[in-house]
Amino acid sequence: MISYSEAYKIIRDEVQKLKLYTEEVDLLGSLNRILAEDIFADTNLPPFDNSAMDGYAVKFNPSRKQWKMIGEISAGNFNLFTLDDDSAVLIMTGSKLPVNTSAVIAVEDVITENGFVKLAEGKIIKENQHIRKKGADLSEGVLALGKNQLITSNKISLLGASGKARVKVYRKLKFGVLATGDELVDIEGKISDDKIRGTNLYSIISAVNEFNMDAVNFGFVGDNKEKIKAKLSEAFNSDIDFLLTTGGVSVGKYDYLKELLIEFGIDIKFWKVKIKPGKPLVFGVWEKDDITKFVFGLPGNPVSSYLNFMIFIKPAVQELYGIKDNKTVKAELTEVVSKKDDKRNFLRGILEFNFEKGKYFVRAPEAQSSADMARLANANCLIVIEEERINPQKGEEVECIMI
Ligand code: AMP
Ligand code: MG
Repeated sequence: MISYSEAYKIIRDEVQKLKLYTEEVDLLGSLNRILAEDIFADTNLPPFDNSAMDGYAVKFNPSRKQWKMIGEISAGNFNLFTLDDDSAVLIMTGSKLPVNTSAVIAVEDVITENGFVKLAEGKIIKENQHIRKKGADLSEGVLALGKNQLITSNKISLLGASGKARVKVYRKLKFGVLATGDELVDIEGKISDDKIRGTNLYSIISAVNEFNMDAVNFGFVGDNKEKIKAKLSEAFNSDIDFLLTTGGVSVGKYDYLKELLIEFGIDIKFWKVKIKPGKPLVFGVWEKDDITKFVFGLPGNPVSSYLNFMIFIKPAVQELYGIKDNKTVKAELTEVVSKKDDKRNFLRGILEFNFEKGKYFVRAPEAQSSADMARLANANCLIVIEEERINPQKGEEVECIMI
């Protein structure tokens, strides 16, 4: 059985072989996509010197306290005025400045009377106050945003201001999802006797969507060789990049999946990883002509399949796109954690930031099993307990992957 690190490295190296195509999308459609071009400012930001306040533009002179109002400029409605020591122009935020402006006095700091502006009692002016200089935010031609980063809403204004009505992003990868098991019925189906609701399809598709990749639903299939083969054939002949199956990869009599994948010509890179939960993971590569697809046989237990997605698939794909995940933090255990084996354990944890102490604290609720959906649903992180670590104690530091 290989270790977590070995398994991850195999997956990462294989996944790196996928070719990433790009496409152009509208600015609004670029949200949550991964930028595939370097963005350079095509203009100075701001493009001209302008006022940062609603106020009065003046030529700075420390001994002056009064000016004659000679006109006004509002944003987008420039009028050419040239200031001298005596004159002031009423100006609105964002307006282009009159010639010779070297300070803007806020409306709140003056008194106006008979066409004159007077500095209010006790107020002082500093040279260049409330002036936004041309190019102060970004000067024309410089790198505004580098490629290979996730486009979040805080980056949209800069993309727009750089003239990007259309943005080049990487194509989303497509993940086919297939759930196997005779015991499964769909959510609205009748659960009687020995049947259970099959939830993996939904949880894995949601994990794919949350990660903003495309999911293709291949539905449910029973533990029947011919039917599974037909589904595999349908999946591999479609335009997916990954096939994620759940169930049927363990050592039960009807766990056919691995054997069928081999029959299908899949090059199995590994089966079973020294982790808990999620051990029976299968990873293989399908190649035909110039096309490569990857298959992950995820174990059927809901926690195992979800966890495998989070610790292997998502980070490997992020590396392919060249983006970094900053979702891992160090935290102090508030309770002992029961961990007796030599596998890498991933426990469902509850993580909290303590502002007084300036750090994270975490605990893992008791009785964790790989079928335990309630603990998974109420967790906000996966606590990583390394192979060699046994029963980490209260106060020890652990790594947590936020989910
Ligand atoms: P398997 O990996 O097929 O041996 O399944 C392991 C366990 O996960 C069994 O208890 C299954 O009933 C359960 N299981 C398999 N698939 C699903 C699913 N889609 N949703 C919920 N539980 C499942
Ligand atoms: Mg099964």
